[in-house]
Amino acid sequence: MEIHVFTIFPDMFTGPLNTSILKRAQEQQKVKFHLVDFRCYSPSKHKNVDDSPFGGGVGMVLKPEPIYYAVEAALGDLHDYKGKILLMSPQGKQFDQKMARELAQEERLAIICGHYEGFDERIRFLVDEEISIGDYVLTGGEIPAMVVIDAVCRLLPGVLGESESPLTDSFYNGLLEYPQYTRPREFRGMTVPETLLSGNHEEIRKWRRKEALRRTWLRRPELLKTLVLSDEDKKFLSQIMQEEKGINN
Ligand code: SAM
Repeated sequence: MEIHVFTIFPDMFTGPLNTSILKRAQEQQKVKFHLVDFRCYSPSKHKNVDDSPFGGGVGMVLKPEPIYYAVEAALGDLHDYKGKILLMSPQGKQFDQKMARELAQEERLAIICGHYEGFDERIRFLVDEEISIGDYVLTGGEIPAMVVIDAVCRLLPGVLGESESPLTDSFYNGLLEYPQYTRPREFRGMTVPETLLSGNHEEIRKWRRKEALRRTWLRRPELLKTLVLSDEDKKFLSQIMQEEKGINN
């Protein structure tokens, strides 16, 4: 996958893109990043990228020209661009694992990072999707862009090793992940559930499925509404409800 990022703070990406899985993904040529400083494309003498809003008001607004020129210079004729152009914005569609999976199917992505009070409305005509990472406002689109990049790149084929499969991650199958344990078997009186030590794969599978359902029911019950439940899931859920009722009484 090829990812262009349009930002006035390209240095912010140095650490995240060159650490851990994203670093490895680049070394394995699964992903190639192009950081484009759209300030360089400003037509003004002082390379301004922002200006005060028409109609008055506080803050500065990103001008359209530097972003249009940078995007066109980097991506060429946009009619021929075979990828998605994304704009980071708190007003966008909320990013989730389903969106990460869809974006991971693309061969190319371009991500525009806003800054200041916001961006000129005409920038919206350049983009295929506006993405928000949550209902809060950050200073710029750089951290949201890193969130999207990380979530997408770990889903690219071959980026995660066998031992790091995304298949069990939270949200992958619509559930939160089951509780995980490693050595030691006992720590400060806290023990590991016997089933996980049993070596019985079918019992371990059932335990994990039930505990993933329990965790989801307790923490994010709305996720269960869209999940197709098997007969086994339904049985587990009714057991969980009884067990939790017992704990809370
Ligand atoms: N005044 C703008 C508004 O109310 O929509 C917010 C501007 S914010 C300070 C500056 C930039 O940070 C935005 O243009 C966007 O690129 C990015 N940003 C801030 N919060 C974000 C979020 N939750 N998700 C995605 N991008 C965000």
